[in-house]
Amino acid sequence: MSDKKIPYKIYLEENEMPTKWYNVRADMKNKPAPLLNPETLKPMTLEELSGVFCEELARQELDDTTAYIDIPQEIRKFYKMYRPSPLVRAYCLEEKLDTPAKIYYKFEGNNTSGSHKLNSAIAQAYYAKEQGLKGVTTETGAGQWGTALSMACSYFGLDCKVYMVKVSYEQKPFRREVMRTYGASVTPSPSDTTQVGRKILAEHPGTSGSLGCAISEAVEAALGTEGYRYVLGSVLNQVLLHQSVIGLEAKAALDKYGIEPDIIIGCAGGGSNLGGLISPFMGEKLKGNKNYRIIAVEPASCPSLTRGRYAYDFCDTGKVCPLAKMYTLGSGFIPSANHAGGLRYHGMSSTLSQLYDDGLMEAVSVEQTSVFDAAVQFARVEGILPAPESSHAIRVAIDEALKCKETGEEKTIVFGLTGTGYFDMVAYQKYNDGNMQDYIPTDEDLKPGFASLPQIG
Ligand SMILES: *Cc1c(COP(=O)(O)O)cnc(C)c1O
Repeated sequence: MSDKKIPYKIYLEENEMPTKWYNVRADMKNKPAPLLNPETLKPMTLEELSGVFCEELARQELDDTTAYIDIPQEIRKFYKMYRPSPLVRAYCLEEKLDTPAKIYYKFEGNNTSGSHKLNSAIAQAYYAKEQGLKGVTTETGAGQWGTALSMACSYFGLDCKVYMVKVSYEQKPFRREVMRTYGASVTPSPSDTTQVGRKILAEHPGTSGSLGCAISEAVEAALGTEGYRYVLGSVLNQVLLHQSVIGLEAKAALDKYGIEPDIIIGCAGGGSNLGGLISPFMGEKLKGNKNYRIIAVEPASCPSLTRGRYAYDFCDTGKVCPLAKMYTLGSGFIPSANHAGGLRYHGMSSTLSQLYDDGLMEAVSVEQTSVFDAAVQFARVEGILPAPESSHAIRVAIDEALKCKETGEEKTIVFGLTGTGYFDMVAYQKYNDGNMQDYIPTDEDLKPGFASLPQIG
């Protein structure tokens, strides 16, 4: 199809939106390793998982064989309020870069939470409601997940208890207020409301908290409160499943115009947006129909894929969660200050870890000043002020487009623009003031994290 006919924004009609999520695990020859019970070291059973997670979500977590799973009507209804998200042809960026590459981005920032996280939050809240639960608990780092979950819970009339990493609680009061506006209760973590929180506070007085610690508190709170379950916004198989709506929509939009991507790029924190974006494309690759280049982008300060080990590890600081096999820096790894809060998790989705280990996906790490160079360049030509996390993908998309300029290749690049950066203006301020620094851990810095890995098998 002629290039001229491709609009700036490709939208789908309501009746073209996905009605099923796609479970890429069904088409993987090497399945992701199962979650293990930390005491018995045996794979977690449905019964065990259902003590922590909603039952249907536990079932989805364990389902390695069903390729397509119906999106319940109520979730589709909610999706219609803010989806389909546009697939945008970055004509202005292409022109600015003077590249023959064709660049598209799938923009997930068009909702109040400002990111893709709502896609899974609404699904998880739905299943909690279906099960007749009173509420859910969770952790939030930079605040995007807590915001999305509080929106989803208020929609279904569920109680929502959020443990927010203390440093973000203090530095991002507006995020906190958005959550409270949607009715969530927000507790800075570590707190004295849980045993694990009190223990961490005693061992590290004055600590500003971490995601791993907030997870432990949220899990404890769920286990100790009748009618509550714990929910998590990334890393898990179920979250990648819900996020497949991103990739399914993107693929449908591309197919509509007969566009074949060469390169697909996404930022990777716990792996949910990237996993969701690439799922249907990876499915084609796994079946041998296509050979896309798929690139995960992570911060150089928290390089779990590019410098981590592929091993079973704890998911949280308090070691109350099941063990997951993943590319990890070790649960004892403390990432240095980095402004892409959503990318600071020590591990990576076990589905993506397996795909990466099988050579089906590449990974690169990028430094934060170069990420903000890309963010500002993008904001000025495409209009959208991107989240720092999303800007990791922008960096590599620009780099790939510039390579095309050198070689003259007209490659088609698709990247995930996961959200907006309105709550990250402190980071932009640092960048604009010229005070932003790059932190790259030395091999020595990574040692304590690796030493914290459990010895298994
Ligand atoms: C949370 C977040 C990410 C990273 O999480 P993944 O699970 O790896 O997708 C990326 N971008 C934004 C805007 C986020 O809020």
